[in-house]
Amino acid sequence: MEKPRDHCIRCGECCLRSSPSLQASDISRVIEGAIQRSDLYTLRSGELVRDNIRGGLKRTEREIIKVREKKKTGACIFYDGPAKQCTIYEHRPIQCAAMTCWDDTEFMRVYGEPKAERRDLIQDKNLLRLMEAHEEKCGYPRLDCYAREIEKSGERAVENILGILRFDHDIRLLTSEKLDVNSSELDLIYGRPLAETIVMFGLKVVREPDGSFFLTLTTPSSQPFSDA
Ligand code: SF4
Ligand code: SF4
Repeated sequence: MEKPRDHCIRCGECCLRSSPSLQASDISRVIEGAIQRSDLYTLRSGELVRDNIRGGLKRTEREIIKVREKKKTGACIFYDGPAKQCTIYEHRPIQCAAMTCWDDTEFMRVYGEPKAERRDLIQDKNLLRLMEAHEEKCGYPRLDCYAREIEKSGERAVENILGILRFDHDIRLLTSEKLDVNSSELDLIYGRPLAETIVMFGLKVVREPDGSFFLTLTTPSSQPFSDA
């Protein structure tokens, strides 16, 4: 009979499966530059995510800062597959340091500690004001509400959603052009673009040649759901 695992064999499976989210104790890793802001994105409060503890989908009760995943495979961006190693091993997030796949006690203890938030990583007052305005206008609970209303109120709900999508698009443009913020940091500041994540609600955005948005129905995709 095979002996149960009791040590890490560096198979990389945990890094290939997903990426960690940041706890408050990881903030210094970002401030000191071991992890860049462009390596991160935000799962905003109310966003639909895969519950990697209990399984299934859930709405996040608070925002979560995640390390980006590789687009094609979903593996952590810091995992070097051919070398089978973490490229930031000395500075890896605390969730990774606590990961022992044969015993989740330490991981669960760390997971229950305070989480990092955008406000811990973004100090610029103008950016914080824009972030607040974006959250107020483009919050997921609001979007969810309008998406549910489509069947009942039709065109009015669609117009409301299109207004949110336009705002989300324009504020990103304004932030990178006027505040000179690198566009690779926008997914941390505002979460992923709504034009991408809206497929969670069974809706799809089409851009018209004149730049305007058009909304159609689609099959809800599992693609935008991140592990949290
Ligand atoms: S913790 Fe487990 S899954 Fe992760 S690298 Fe080690 S043996 Fe593999
Ligand atoms: S940060 Fe490093 S240890 Fe953590 S999941 Fe990514 S590659 Fe693995």
